[in-house]
Amino acid sequence: MSDTSVFDILVVGGGMTGTALALGLSRQGWRVGLIEGGDRDTLLQVPDAAEGVADFEPRVSAISVASQQLLESLGAWQSVVTGRHCPYQGMTVWDGDGTGRIHFDAAELQSRALGTIVENRSLVRALFEVVVASDVELIDGVQVIGCSRTGEQRSIELADGRTLGARLVIAADGANSRLRQWAGLPTREWDYDQQAIVCTVRTAQSHRYTAWQRFSQTGPLAFLPLTPENADEHFCSIVWSQDTEEARRLMALDDTAFAAELEGAIERELGAVEAVSKRFAFPLRQRHAKDYIAPGFALVGDAAHTIHPLAGQGANLGYGDVRVLLEELSRAKNTGLSPAHELVLARYQRRRKGDNLTMMAAMEGFKQLFGRDELPFRLLRNTGMRWLDGLGPVKNRIAAEAMGLRS
Ligand SMILES: Cc1cc2nc3c(=O)[nH]c(=O)nc-3n(C[C@H](O)[C@H](O)[C@H](O)COP(=O)(O)OP(=O)(O)OC[C@H]3O[C@@H](n4cnc5c(N)ncnc54)[C@H](O)[C@@H]3O)c2cc1C
Repeated sequence: MSDTSVFDILVVGGGMTGTALALGLSRQGWRVGLIEGGDRDTLLQVPDAAEGVADFEPRVSAISVASQQLLESLGAWQSVVTGRHCPYQGMTVWDGDGTGRIHFDAAELQSRALGTIVENRSLVRALFEVVVASDVELIDGVQVIGCSRTGEQRSIELADGRTLGARLVIAADGANSRLRQWAGLPTREWDYDQQAIVCTVRTAQSHRYTAWQRFSQTGPLAFLPLTPENADEHFCSIVWSQDTEEARRLMALDDTAFAAELEGAIERELGAVEAVSKRFAFPLRQRHAKDYIAPGFALVGDAAHTIHPLAGQGANLGYGDVRVLLEELSRAKNTGLSPAHELVLARYQRRRKGDNLTMMAAMEGFKQLFGRDELPFRLLRNTGMRWLDGLGPVKNRIAAEAMGLRS
């Protein structure tokens, strides 16, 4: 079976990055197809109201103000905020092996929130709701099994036997991108030898709309505030990155013992950990494609880069890619250039690679700084954090960077 459809742009991967990109491109007037292995009925399902820890999705994202603005412009944020979401007004970071502590406050930045914690599936559902009502041609429930180039066109082979053509193929198929491999784009990568344990917990005290992060030598622990429909402020999503051996030990504990360890690790900031959901562990790997582009082809989101979750910036980097690619393809549309024109793709790569590298290097620096026990590193951490905490303008500039709002 073959389908002679030729799209201007085919986006592969209907996660949070690809879906947003397909929507934005279709609004610009391109003929856009979005291919997603999952089926739309599942992705559009509204979850039951959350009553306990098992009712939340364990994977959440801290969406920055800049990413929120992008999602607002695409018409998806409106649906996010009618579902479960939790704007956080504060962020407290401290050194578990010392005395350094720093607190960021949205009010000091004249902002309502530093960001919003959203369950990944809610975000994808909100985007899909807009996609199915848009001009994007959604091809769901089918895997892409090949991608090749013939002349000026890229061909996408689907598992159901169809072949689709496009002037430009954009791979948003996640960290283990097969399209990246088929396009022959190598990555620079290394293993952190750490795993991130994620789950939902209920705590005795309110999260106070604050993201809590404690660093220790074996890795950071984050308590990210979640609010269900009834605004109970006692649920948090945790991301506990630990050296692999320690992560394995923690995963093997029963719920009571795990809750006790968590309580100790977060220094009882939120009181007792009263309930924990099923736990999941993700191996952590830093990965960065050496090139984001090839003729008629581009990478976005996790397909281009994955970083340590310690600053919760993975999804935001993906939305940074989306924003820039939308700008460059809008410019191409207005000047009559092909979406696959090499200048268009080269500008995208140039504008994004530097920013993504800077964020990845910063995460690496943090990880190294907090992973060392020697006195000079401890001093640097503790005096540095206390000094920064008292330095309003510099601190606020760092917070503005993390929110994606550079002045
Ligand atoms: C433990 C952990 C915690 C994190 N916490 C945060 C956080 O707090 N804040 C944050 O910003 N980021 C966080 N991240 C990162 C964030 O989750 C990712 O950056 C984000 O989900 C990437 O989105 P994506 O759309 O690029 O890829 P994905 O979400 O992986 O989506 C890829 C899509 O492509 C589809 N697909 C793949 N292959 C094919 C194929 N061959 N054919 C058809 N479809 C295909 C898949 O079905 C999927 O829907 C975290 C990551 C981890 C591991």
